[in-house]
Amino acid sequence: MAAHQHDPNANNLWSYFQTVLNWAITNFDMKKFKKIMKGLDWALLYDKYGSETLNTEDMGKKISILMRDSEIQKQSGIIPYVLTGDEHYLDLRAFPDDIKLAVWEKQNHICPHCGKEYDFEFMEGDHITPWREGGRTVVDNCQMLCRECNRRKGIK
Ligand SMILES: [Zn+2]
Repeated sequence: MAAHQHDPNANNLWSYFQTVLNWAITNFDMKKFKKIMKGLDWALLYDKYGSETLNTEDMGKKISILMRDSEIQKQSGIIPYVLTGDEHYLDLRAFPDDIKLAVWEKQNHICPHCGKEYDFEFMEGDHITPWREGGRTVVDNCQMLCRECNRRKGIK
């Protein structure tokens, strides 16, 4: 009796699993994106977006472009990013210390937003043109902001 109680649940789980898998391969091109489709939490994505009509052609184009973007350090975040729009999934490049130091010196240790002087360790590297507008992690696109100004800029 106890053993049979679980049969319907296992069947449900199997059918759910198949639904999720079907959704994944219907909406995303396994041939092209196999590398970044492996190991994703598809159940989570399906639960959130499974009932939406997705523009698969448009998404596919976006994914192809993103896969060639060297600013993205976490390729497995591309599909979650395309669905959610949340850049955190991509682990975008941050400025290395040598660039930050050079910019800090060039700015005479002054935060361009509030005009106050700060020690290096109290400032953060900020992309003047953000990644989503085509900004790259290069010295010309770096400004050093104090933590407070950088935090405020992040909220906007
Ligand atoms: Zn500031």
